[in-house]
Amino acid sequence: MTKYIFITGGVVSSLGKGIIAASLGRLLRARGFSVINQKFDPYINVDPGTMSPFQHGEVFVTDDGAETDLDLGHYERFTDTSLGKYNNVTSGSVYQHVIKKERRGDYLGATVQVIPHITNEIKSRINGATKQFKPDFQLIEIGGTVGDIESLPFVEAIRQFKAEAGIGNAISIHCTLLPYLSTSGELKTKPSQHSVNVLRSYGIQPEILVCRTTRPIPKTEREKLALFCSVPKEAVIECRDMKSIYEVPLALETQNMAKVVLDMLRVEDRKADLKAWEQLVERIKNPKKTVKVAIAGKYTKLSDAYISVVESLKHAGYANDCAIDIKWINSEDCIDGKECKKLLSDVQAVVVPGGFGVRGIEGKLNVIKYARENNLPFLGLCLGMQCAVIEYARNVAGLKGANSAEFDEHAEYPVIDLMLEQKNVQGYGGTMRLGAYDCVLKKASKAYKAYGKEKISERHRHRYEVNNEYLQQIADAGLVFSGMSPDGMLAEVVELPKLDWFVACQFHPEFKSRPDKPHPLFKGLIDAAIKGK
Ligand code: GLN
Repeated sequence: MTKYIFITGGVVSSLGKGIIAASLGRLLRARGFSVINQKFDPYINVDPGTMSPFQHGEVFVTDDGAETDLDLGHYERFTDTSLGKYNNVTSGSVYQHVIKKERRGDYLGATVQVIPHITNEIKSRINGATKQFKPDFQLIEIGGTVGDIESLPFVEAIRQFKAEAGIGNAISIHCTLLPYLSTSGELKTKPSQHSVNVLRSYGIQPEILVCRTTRPIPKTEREKLALFCSVPKEAVIECRDMKSIYEVPLALETQNMAKVVLDMLRVEDRKADLKAWEQLVERIKNPKKTVKVAIAGKYTKLSDAYISVVESLKHAGYANDCAIDIKWINSEDCIDGKECKKLLSDVQAVVVPGGFGVRGIEGKLNVIKYARENNLPFLGLCLGMQCAVIEYARNVAGLKGANSAEFDEHAEYPVIDLMLEQKNVQGYGGTMRLGAYDCVLKKASKAYKAYGKEKISERHRHRYEVNNEYLQQIADAGLVFSGMSPDGMLAEVVELPKLDWFVACQFHPEFKSRPDKPHPLFKGLIDAAIKGK
């Protein structure tokens, strides 16, 4: 029988609830339990696929092609479990479904209301994920802060769900912040008390408190929190700021958080095997070298916009006892070769990540040209690959007017064009080529060597592709198309074999990297960067 753990947040947003939920997931996985995480987002968008990365950070893509919240990336990386479309639920998707049913006449004339229709739909999303995965534990995080108007239906659904599940089958964890007042030298508990009171006013008594803090919680404050918030003392968990997010599971384990959770859910504790994770954290904390890697994109002001790329680079570093120093480069600043030299001469590798729209494209092309001409290890992701093809077409294959139809509908040589199946697609949101597709790698290519196999599966999110009309001409000029879709119709990987590492892919490898299992293409990049240094 699945046991349920709900995670809410109070006092402020951005507490890192996602990391806490993911870390608890890791602790349960380390005990041999199966775990899935779910994220409930109270906004009205049906999914974050249409939201600006500046607003919402990265859109994380699952194997089954859902465009989801970036917290799903944390869940997958921490628990090493592949999630899917049931794992991210938004108010928009809940309302969309209920309204569709209403229009179909499913409610037989009833007045459709938040309670019970919306809350029932939310509960059915919880049960739907249980049915699909049949996990031992299901961890459900509610986005936003308790007290927000828009999260009320979710909080109410949790209240109902907990009551229906019965004691010992569902618990809730409330995450709060303990502010430190330097004038009095104290960590203050009052905002947490108030936040728990808000939660109680909705009928939910949290069983566990996780308190974000910059310093240790003194015994008296712990006791105060336990007393005022009605939780056992051992259920007041301290979560200090850490250098690396991957330290969080270990910090929670030293406070027996998983054991407290298991006791409350009436499950016998098991021995945790955290050895590999501890070794990982040792490596993270004691790097023997550092490489500097540039990310040349357009959402560089918000690092969350490329969070999986950043994590993947770090993972590849961990495997080499190497710290990664990221240099953010706004591709719009890369106006010519001279600027590129100035910006890139102190880095050992460069990544051109995915993106949409024409802004910053010429700069990305300049960056790629610089990498190609100076043998600077380069990895292109999705749009980054499309740019690598345009750059090669223009500057090597003699197709001067080469461009993507995304940026110039009337390009002289549209070497990147809308995919055939995209030509009649209308509307946005879930309409791109999304999710896992197979790709076949050419033997003896760099990509093949990195993966160590011919057939791979990777996640996609794009509308445009290499135009096959120009493929031969570009290949004749020396760009190797080393990965193709199994039917040979879509270019998936390109590379330049003579350079140390010049590889670009149409898919998003960053979604499948794990801290203890770096992705082969990122590993290849960082290996080359270290060697080059
Ligand atoms: N804009 C490009 C496309 O739609 C690339 C997308 C991406 O980088 N995710 O094909």
